[in-house]
Amino acid sequence: MLFPGSAGATRLAWESPHLVYMYLQSSLAPRLHINSWTLFLATTMATAGKVIKCKAAVAWEPNKPVVIEEIEVAPPQANEVRIKIVATSVCHTDLYHLFESMHKDGFPTVLGHEGAGIVESVGPGVTEFQPGDKVIPLFLSQCKECHLCKNPRTNQCEVAWTRINQAIMAGVESRFTCKGKRVLQFMGTSTFSEYTVINQMAVAKIDPAAPLDKVCLLGCGICTGYGAAVNTAKVEPGSTCAVFGLGAVGLAAVMGCKAAGAKRIIAVDVNPDKFEKAKVFGATDFVNPKDHDKPIHEVLTKMTNGGVDYSLECVGNVQVMRSALESSAQGWGVSVIVGWTDLHDIVIRPAHLISGRTWKGSMFGGFKSKDGVSKMVKDYLDKKLKVDEFISQNMTLDQANDAIELMKNCKCIRAVMSVSPP
Ligand code: NAD
Ligand code: ZN
Repeated sequence: MLFPGSAGATRLAWESPHLVYMYLQSSLAPRLHINSWTLFLATTMATAGKVIKCKAAVAWEPNKPVVIEEIEVAPPQANEVRIKIVATSVCHTDLYHLFESMHKDGFPTVLGHEGAGIVESVGPGVTEFQPGDKVIPLFLSQCKECHLCKNPRTNQCEVAWTRINQAIMAGVESRFTCKGKRVLQFMGTSTFSEYTVINQMAVAKIDPAAPLDKVCLLGCGICTGYGAAVNTAKVEPGSTCAVFGLGAVGLAAVMGCKAAGAKRIIAVDVNPDKFEKAKVFGATDFVNPKDHDKPIHEVLTKMTNGGVDYSLECVGNVQVMRSALESSAQGWGVSVIVGWTDLHDIVIRPAHLISGRTWKGSMFGGFKSKDGVSKMVKDYLDKKLKVDEFISQNMTLDQANDAIELMKNCKCIRAVMSVSPP
């Protein structure tokens, strides 16, 4: 077999992808100079239109370890994109599904919604993406055509409500099967898999220079917390803020408060190990509710002479949501719910709102997802945004259960797992 160099190899990749693919798998491959694009193209051309068998971490049942399985990933259908996932991390929302809500109809599923990868192939009607594009999957779509997408006051998308079944936290459709069973795509994304298929409305194209093992974190936690401060709370310069919960979401909220010019940022967490990290992102004060006999809102009200201007709940606990509201200043305080739960109601006194506080919620930091993620990646590359500092461990997909345990035991900020080589 004669390969005439990279230009010829590119032509051959188009004309006879299987031949090139077989060649690249053989021992002759290292002897030839083929640029990485040609290599990717050849691999892609060999798999496009076919079912891909690959590795994924399948959650067969609630409250059980995930199992590394071989799954089948169908080719993308109309308006869909098949993505090779390069890196992903665990967010508390994955844990919520596996250990807290435990909705039996939400299994088997492949978890993961904070990832980044490379487009492998596209279905009919896709014009925005092509094989080789670097992308971030989105759990919130941006169709750009519905009345919500066209309204600058919200990041909700009407299509998202029909794509994702909120009760079972999964896409209505799935392109995954394993051992003859249909496997759900958690949040429509499923990034704990070497390949996934997603509608183009829920994929953000990002700068080709972006390191995927870092910017994967912009698929959820960092955009969520940062945007909650900047877009939803609309923190003003010189203000006082309190952030409850110092996981990646809360730390990103601290970073957002700082970027917006807050002069005092009180970080609240029951785990004192988190305080050093919070300083890195701009926290000025630390409060551990366990160190106080009084309710935490009384402690904060005293510390700030009447309450904070902005409070952000980044835990997902209804008692903490109430405390955050009560910690905000009577008259003008704004409190934002960021933490996720759908298991309990919240009890509050109407007087807390009547006396001038505003209570808000924030999904994905209020960012219109496609536009926001591309911009946040650019801000990271321009060194306007911290991302690397959120990474506490680097692991592989085979260690998914270890990564989940670290998160469950509050021993990490974000554990990034490498999934497929780029
Ligand atoms: P995490 O588990 O890494 O962090 C949670 C933090 O809260 C931990 O540091 C923990 O010690 C702290 N905490 C627990 N109980 C507390 C209490 N009573 N008072 C103060 N702190 C307390 O989680 P994460 O990945 O940062 O996610 C945080 C929340 O945000 C979760 O509920 C997650 O589901 C939610 N979330 C929401 C969105 C959204 O779009 N709204 C997106 C992503 C995540
Ligand atoms: Zn998340």
